Amino acid sequence: MNKPLIFDIAMGRTKPFNMENDMVRCPFCDPSTLTDILAKDGHLIWLMNKYPVLRDTWPTVIIETEGDEGELSTLSLNEASRIIQFGYDKWHETMASKEFASVIFFKNYGPMSGGSIRHPHSQIIGLRNYDYREDITVEHMNGWLLHEDQHVRITLSNHPIIGFFEYNLRFKADAPMRTITLRLQQTIRYVLHSMSRFSQSYNYYFYDLHDDYRYIKVVSRYITPPLFVGYGISQTCDDKRAAHIIKDSRPFFE
Ligand SMILES: [Zn+2]
Repeated sequence: MNKPLIFDIAMGRTKPFNMENDMVRCPFCDPSTLTDILAKDGHLIWLMNKYPVLRDTWPTVIIETEGDEGELSTLSLNEASRIIQFGYDKWHETMASKEFASVIFFKNYGPMSGGSIRHPHSQIIGLRNYDYREDITVEHMNGWLLHEDQHVRITLSNHPIIGFFEYNLRFKADAPMRTITLRLQQTIRYVLHSMSRFSQSYNYYFYDLHDDYRYIKVVSRYITPPLFVGYGISQTCDDKRAAHIIKDSRPFFE
């Protein structure tokens, strides 16, 4: 079993937080003040996280847009693909460095997502001594089939990490990122239209589980189910509800 990562609470308190408060100046809106930049492509900027709150990690941030508005699913496919391709390449570069037990690549969006800054961004974090694959398996990426085409298979988890609703994209590591991005945008649109209609919050996470595929999990966010908090019991829906979701989501994947 992995040991918990240690979070520096004193440093965490100094982080800017503007998810719901416009009075706090956004640190990503003024690129001229940014430091420790790792790579740039137009207004896409990959840089070290100024607040390394997790011990034994290499924390980085990708600033995705120039301003605070919008999120991945509202951008044009061209723009969104550029963002996903950039992050995907940097994630693989970081994994290839072999400095880390595992590398996580994820995004928080919305007030219930656990994120602190509204400005569209994602994070790549190298974990020196923590391999998430000890707990997360291919089983967590399977479920009721929502969509399948030449490049990507989308399922609703029947073995979610937490539940209730987790959507999994599975694709070959060298699949065209434009197609993957389109399916990711569609999945996010469905999540924001359905389960996250009120919270307007989601996360997505990339996984390399040491097989031929890469996976993205899109998780609809609201209050964490108490049975998971207390007992680690994950919950999912029944076949009837899944059948409803299969039907309900179909127009989003056309
Ligand atoms: Zn901003």
